[in-house]
Amino acid sequence: MKRPEGAAVRTDRSGIGGLFQDASPPAWTESEAQGDVPGRCRKILKNVFGYDSFRPPQEEIVTHVGEGGDAFVLLPTGGGKSLCFQIPALVREGTGLVVSPLIALMDDQVSALRENGVRAAAIHSGLDAKTSWRYERELEEGRLDLVYVAPERVLSERFQEVLKRSSLSVIAIDEAHCVSQWGHDFRPEYVQLGLLAELFPGVPRMALTATADGPTRREIVEKLRLMDAKVFTRSFNRPNIRLRIGPKDEPRRQLLRFLREEHAGDSGIVYRLSRADVEKTAEWLSKEGIRALPYHAGLPAETRRRNQETFLREEGVVVVATIAFGMGIDKPDVRFVAHLDLPKSVEAYVQETGRAGRDGLPSNAWMVYGFQDIAMMRSMIQGSEAPEERKRVELQKLNALLGLCETASCRRQSLLSYFGETLEEPCGNCDTCLEPQQTFDGTEAAQKALSAVARTGQVFGVSHAIDVLTGEATEKVRLNGHDRLPTFGVGKDLGKTAWNAIFRQLAAQDLVGVDMSRYGRLHLTERSWEVLKGQRKVPLRSEVVREGRTARKEKRKASAILGAGIDPGLLKDLKLLRTALAKEHGVPPYIVFGDRSLQEMAQQHPRTELEFSQISGVGAMKAKRYGPRFLELLRSR
Ligand code: ADP
Ligand code: ZN
Repeated sequence: MKRPEGAAVRTDRSGIGGLFQDASPPAWTESEAQGDVPGRCRKILKNVFGYDSFRPPQEEIVTHVGEGGDAFVLLPTGGGKSLCFQIPALVREGTGLVVSPLIALMDDQVSALRENGVRAAAIHSGLDAKTSWRYERELEEGRLDLVYVAPERVLSERFQEVLKRSSLSVIAIDEAHCVSQWGHDFRPEYVQLGLLAELFPGVPRMALTATADGPTRREIVEKLRLMDAKVFTRSFNRPNIRLRIGPKDEPRRQLLRFLREEHAGDSGIVYRLSRADVEKTAEWLSKEGIRALPYHAGLPAETRRRNQETFLREEGVVVVATIAFGMGIDKPDVRFVAHLDLPKSVEAYVQETGRAGRDGLPSNAWMVYGFQDIAMMRSMIQGSEAPEERKRVELQKLNALLGLCETASCRRQSLLSYFGETLEEPCGNCDTCLEPQQTFDGTEAAQKALSAVARTGQVFGVSHAIDVLTGEATEKVRLNGHDRLPTFGVGKDLGKTAWNAIFRQLAAQDLVGVDMSRYGRLHLTERSWEVLKGQRKVPLRSEVVREGRTARKEKRKASAILGAGIDPGLLKDLKLLRTALAKEHGVPPYIVFGDRSLQEMAQQHPRTELEFSQISGVGAMKAKRYGPRFLELLRSR
């Protein structure tokens, strides 16, 4: 390592020197600075970020990269990827270069770092010329610990010159799955980032992503030239997210009840498929007194920006959005993700629900869906312009998702097995675990349903079929003479809700076809005939009486989410104080302190500076900046 003789060792780099000017500086001795990377990483973790321990495999990663190795980091959302490059950047000489695809992501991380006293900057097109020039100077002069830039800037020759005049400690490529042409976050510039290997030999490089599938991983390694990088990964299980998927009957009422009973005052996302539904749902929730904002690609950029900003900066905001709202939402305290429409695939489900509970606290992934949703998704795929091969793949992916929706066993086991992971025991935190599903041999019911479809000529929709089955002599039934069919009334013993559930399950198993372009006409498929001929058994879930019971149970659980010994009144006041301080400092509340820190305060009730600094998430800078105000409140109780 080249360093001028006698130069100060990390006293004013890494933000630590400046940070501890009037606290106690952990100035490294010469020997410490050169060796003991793990020890120094642990110190930074506590002093700068306020955390007591690494999460697996953070420690191995920061040590490996801190000592100069390349790394490929695959961790689930919320796994704590940021620290994996931030700490090596602080522990090594020079500035850490972070390539990030979105300005919002960069700005968010930079403000969080600055709150912790780290000298970080993002250079991007949103800055005026003077500011970006100033940051470039700081970079060249080694006065930054971390610099965030977009991929196109890294590719510009002018900026490469700036980088060459600087000293880089580590190069991190965040959201590395953007190299993949097949993913929907594809960014062509990412493909060229492999050239950083040539431009900066000897600087450790790392790629980070939460995308789990094999082909994308291989693409990342190849395009970013990380063949020799050590791969770090761990389970993609997110045990703190409770998975629930239920039948849709009155979606608005169901959503409202979910929000009111389980998430009053929480931040969350409601996903909808169409822009029109986004707007209608947001409007309706607002009328019901919930702070809901719409977000979709058809809204003016300014409205989108403002709504996203409000979601990030204020507490208790619900965003109703299409999938246009996604990457870049690094908000750690999203307490729920609700789907009122089906996602496209298991991958999409995981990605979208994964935005809940990054902070590791209990969160809900909640979805309702029905017969119409299945029919709609199928026909959207079938009716698209895509080549047949692609349609086939998309239908397979949809079927895998429907399998997850209709499973009667643990959802998490089924989800993880889709990604090749095995969860030995049922998870205990999904609806099917919490309330075991009864299944029954539904072959006879299925035969009745399908024969109603066959005998009415395969030209009617599901509600007509159900009228016939339940013996409801509507005008349409009478006019068509369907009240004289042998099938008329054969399903009287079950109600309409039950028949709806049966048709939904038949559609999910592809045992009945639906043509959405023709008013949802039902028709028989090859597989339907196997059922009618008695060649195929049809297991069904019996879920008819579920609704009411689930709600009561869940309600009890929701209140149990707060940990033992937390004083709710104090927690509320701590949150108010956090909001006030966030306003004063112009940052989102979660950047002041995460929910976990506030919960610990409300539980442990620190009264001295020392006790306060032991709270998770309280680093030296935050202790200094916010400690007095929080202690004032805590001591008054
Ligand atoms: P990712 O980028 O992998 O989705 P983040 O880096 O945003 O995850 O981290 C998620 C949350 O976990 C953040 O609030 C972060 O501060 C917190 N976190 C990360 N590492 C630790 C740790 N070792 N101890 C406690 N909290 C941590
Ligand atoms: Zn489970």
